[in-house]
Amino acid sequence: MTVGIIFHGIGTPKRPLEQDEAPYWISEDQFRHVLDMIVALPDPNQIRISFDDSNVSDLEIGLPELSARGLVADFFVLTGRIGQAGSLDAPDIQTLQQQGMTIGTHGVDHLNWANLPADKLHHELTASRATLEEICGQAVTTAGIPFGAYNAAVLKALRQVGYTCAYSSDCGKMDPNAFLRPRASVQGKMTNADFRALIAGHLSVKRKLRRFIGMTRKRLT
Ligand SMILES: [Zn+2]
Repeated sequence: MTVGIIFHGIGTPKRPLEQDEAPYWISEDQFRHVLDMIVALPDPNQIRISFDDSNVSDLEIGLPELSARGLVADFFVLTGRIGQAGSLDAPDIQTLQQQGMTIGTHGVDHLNWANLPADKLHHELTASRATLEEICGQAVTTAGIPFGAYNAAVLKALRQVGYTCAYSSDCGKMDPNAFLRPRASVQGKMTNADFRALIAGHLSVKRKLRRFIGMTRKRLT
């Protein structure tokens, strides 16, 4: 089994933050510490590392620290922010790709896909992919679901337009061959013990039950 973890921003933000976003930013020390914990595992490849929101810290801090440890990651890009201050631009995305990283979509804008009408959802999934395919010169087939907000219609739309997998934020362990792949966010308030539990994919019995019920409900409704 694999464990998926998500980084958002590292260090000091270089753009105004959205409401409720600040807890997902971590310090450079925290970032390096989590990566060091991963490389110390018997099999570091059992951790699937993601970066959401395409902050410029992905390139400036994320890439060199990953590369120094022989790690790779999936970068889920908001195409509406490409080239804006504090966000990745097209050459940054190409650099990540050239260094062995996978580029996926996080949508055009940072929207809750579960709340969108079908046509707007279709636009988020296809326009963002077209932009990334143009930049990357190859197929883009993975999506990181913004805010982990999905329902049956979102999963169906992702499959219909040709995505091969979708990464959520349901925590716990993932089947690396499944279409829907849960991940857990690294947060600034977390302690080293929290990081260890996150990387191990540990959930209490109560949280496991809540996760099972939550994922079943979201898949079906
Ligand atoms: Zn996001």
